[in-house]
Amino acid sequence: MVNDHMNPSVDDVMDEARKYIHDPISLTLIERAANYASVHHAGQFRRSGEPYTVHLNSVAYILATLRVGPQTIAAGFLHDVIEDCGISHDELAGEFDGEIADLVESVTKIGTLQFKGKNDPEYQAANHRKIFIAMAKDVRVIIIKLVDRLHNMRTLQYQPEASQKRIAQETLDVYAPIAHRLGISAIKNELEDLCFYYLNREEYYRIAHLVEAKKAERDANVSQMISEISEMLREHDIPHRIFGRSKHLYSIYRKMITKHKRFDEILDLLAIRIVTGTKQSCYETLGYIHAKYHPIPGRLKDYIAVPKTNMYQSLHTTIIGENARIFEVQIRTEEMDAIAERGVAAHWRYKEGSKYDARAEQKEIEDKLSWFRNLTVYSEEENENTTASEYMEALQHDVFAANVYVMTPKGRVIDLPNGATPIDFAYRIHTDVGHTAVGAIVNDAMVPLNTELHTGDVVQIKTMKGTGPSEDWLKFVKTNQARNKIRNWLTKKETENHLNRVDEGEKILADELRKRGFNPKEYMERKKLENIYKEFRVSNHTDLMYGIAVKSINPTSVCEKLTNQKAHISEQAALSRVLGKEAQHRVSKSGLVIPGIESMKMSLAHCCLPVYGEPIKGFITKTEGVKVHRIGCPNIAGAKARLIDVQWDEGDVERYYDADVNVSARDRSFLLTDIVTVVSQCKAPLESVNAAVNHDTLTSTIKMVIRVHDISHLENVIANLRKVESVIDVERTAH
Ligand code: MN
Repeated sequence: MVNDHMNPSVDDVMDEARKYIHDPISLTLIERAANYASVHHAGQFRRSGEPYTVHLNSVAYILATLRVGPQTIAAGFLHDVIEDCGISHDELAGEFDGEIADLVESVTKIGTLQFKGKNDPEYQAANHRKIFIAMAKDVRVIIIKLVDRLHNMRTLQYQPEASQKRIAQETLDVYAPIAHRLGISAIKNELEDLCFYYLNREEYYRIAHLVEAKKAERDANVSQMISEISEMLREHDIPHRIFGRSKHLYSIYRKMITKHKRFDEILDLLAIRIVTGTKQSCYETLGYIHAKYHPIPGRLKDYIAVPKTNMYQSLHTTIIGENARIFEVQIRTEEMDAIAERGVAAHWRYKEGSKYDARAEQKEIEDKLSWFRNLTVYSEEENENTTASEYMEALQHDVFAANVYVMTPKGRVIDLPNGATPIDFAYRIHTDVGHTAVGAIVNDAMVPLNTELHTGDVVQIKTMKGTGPSEDWLKFVKTNQARNKIRNWLTKKETENHLNRVDEGEKILADELRKRGFNPKEYMERKKLENIYKEFRVSNHTDLMYGIAVKSINPTSVCEKLTNQKAHISEQAALSRVLGKEAQHRVSKSGLVIPGIESMKMSLAHCCLPVYGEPIKGFITKTEGVKVHRIGCPNIAGAKARLIDVQWDEGDVERYYDADVNVSARDRSFLLTDIVTVVSQCKAPLESVNAAVNHDTLTSTIKMVIRVHDISHLENVIANLRKVESVIDVERTAH
């Protein structure tokens, strides 16, 4: 037991503190904290019916017995004022200081943790220990919390039975292992025995009675051995304390269970501890004992040279005494003994002096216990052959270093990989929360969704219905869960888009059919469509329509295939009707002048058909007057002597000029229709048209004579023809 002092008063706490704290300012701080707590908790009572301050005084008192610093004792008095009195962190910081306020706040935060979660109790317990340590951040917070729990366990009889079991189980799973890991064996042993009592009362009493029954005999044997060894050490002038020690009940029970030993096998191991002055005298003591008694081979452990990871140091040996009785002997210095009992707390005991710096002290402790933050694994029976460095190495690989623990506003703990963001958090809460997340509030401040979360953060997600995840999220999320959910959502969305595109494709095809005088209902029958899948290298309706919508499949080609080339026939028929009408508009005035010459017979050459506005030359014929050619016409090249300058008659802009135009294109149906449509849209009447398909190259050559006002009109028609789908080239010709 850490102490058996029932319900200590504030004076008792001060007396204990004065044993090692002498600075009046520090002592005043502790008194002020005690006073502040009693004022604010006034009128509050525990289930036992006692004033609440009984709990606070007890916690502060136990802390003082652990020799912690004045701020930690003060925080012990104050540890429930945020939770139970509604005092804020800032008020506390103002009244005392920021450090004390931080300690109390952290203790409160751990108190709000809900240790619920995965079904596997082993996983759960290990995880909760990690969370607990990670949340605490400061070793002093853990010590306060352990002491708080110790006092609550001592007074657990006032709780209802269901609460007793739950609290005892949590203490055994989470608190006792942490106490062990921090080397505070005094607290760990007491917690374990209290838990044992509440969780398995029958076994507790059975073992307690067995221990009691053999106690006298064991005590006699131990006493005899103690006086023998003590006498021997006095002869060698080695100063020492020597005493027998009793195993606590839960450790006996655990050994019976895990090592399958009978009660007497465990209890027959008699235990003696020798505390001496220096490391040197520890080894000397060991030497004398081994010289006098027979040591059992393989049982010597030198934890002085190689300390355990919780800083425990001692020499362990097992010897055979009188009547073949076996004794376990521990040899250590006072310093080592203090560490063995109080662990971290002992290491960190308050040192007075003007240069004392609590932060530096905190850092020193954490450096010494560099595993502290990585505290993850707790094995009931730590392998005694594992050295501190091996253990450290193993910890390096532990997942803990890669985890952060954040909380919902209600205190639910969510564990996430290092670097996780509010989006990872959101998907852990619920898929829909992730999908509709639009903002995050971390510790009361709005933050970007890619903000890295840290242990202890309180995270809240803002959602908005009808929104969805962004592809950008994939760049920063850390959990596979979030990544998969985002991907699934995006894929689903794409499928929906795809289906919309299918509708779009159907509409385009129907329009195309309608435009050409076909009934879409008739031609878009499933069977008809199925027949043409192969032609377009698709295997289903969806792909065909999607192709049409995204323009990878030409709807006119689909029309053609669906209507079995019928289009060609009707197109030709329609075309000849158009041409017949346009032939009526023919005009035949030349519209040319030869400077200085009147009424000269002039006509436009049929080989190159010049149009108004483009550069021209006159060629004097023998019988037909002047024939006007384009300047580049091959038929007048090398005939310079018979050429004459001619000009367009500017007064005659309303007339039309014929022009030869050749279109070459990849063959497709409705090509001719499309070309005629363009020509017509350009208001260039069609004089004649002639289409020929080259079946080897699958190209179409369309020769047209169109009628234009001038060269720019012609250039406009050509430019528009070049834009028609599948057109390769458009050029004027000369015969
Ligand atoms: Mn408390």
